[in-house]
Amino acid sequence: MNLIFMGPPGAGKGTQAKRIAAAYDLVQLSTGDMLRRAVEEGTEVGRQAKSVMDAGEYVSDDIVVAIVSERIGQPECSKGFILDGFPRTLNQAHSLDKVLASKGLEIDHVVMIRVDDEKLIARIAGRFSCSTCDAAYHDQFNRPKHKNVCDICGGLQFSRRSDDNAEAVAVRLEVYYGQTAPLLPYYEAQKSLRTVDGMADIDVVTEQIKSAINAHGSD
Ligand code: AMP
Repeated sequence: MNLIFMGPPGAGKGTQAKRIAAAYDLVQLSTGDMLRRAVEEGTEVGRQAKSVMDAGEYVSDDIVVAIVSERIGQPECSKGFILDGFPRTLNQAHSLDKVLASKGLEIDHVVMIRVDDEKLIARIAGRFSCSTCDAAYHDQFNRPKHKNVCDICGGLQFSRRSDDNAEAVAVRLEVYYGQTAPLLPYYEAQKSLRTVDGMADIDVVTEQIKSAINAHGSD
């Protein structure tokens, strides 16, 4: 089963993608994570992407299409994958269609996680993640069970994203509504769009996604 997770920044795409990937034995392919890794490793892609990401703008279509196409062809993705944060422009969606067709693959469901803007801003402001295993937490909504200790791996180091500041978040929301929201009618027309209410508790959203996927069946 191959999925796309869509939604504005802070909707919970990454958190939910991790849970659904574990439940259905899929690989999570987050372009944001791949780009952040490239920045950390100081690769050419990372050097090109850093300032664009810090400003809240989109990295060029060519870069993200190349990194995604490379991954979906690999054996680790043979049981299926979740594209988390890709495609984000119509051009990326068209390129993805071509890449999938060339590999004889298709997308089974596009899961749209819908959240109001005020809630998005509150969520982004408080989020942090484990520096070791990348598990996602929030100061208010999702704290580790033991203060400063990761529930998943026991790690003691946490970090916050450099683009989770008010200025970059305002740009990220504007860019999302301008460039990514137009993908919704595109996937609606393909009858693959499943919209869930991302305002609910994390566990409830996970259940909604599972129900939406199961209700529509999959390959
Ligand atoms: P995310 O972790 O999904 O919020 O992505 C963080 C940042 O990475 C975005 O604000 C963009 O700068 C960049 N990025 C991630 N995915 C894409 C994409 N599909 N197209 C363009 N830029 C992207």
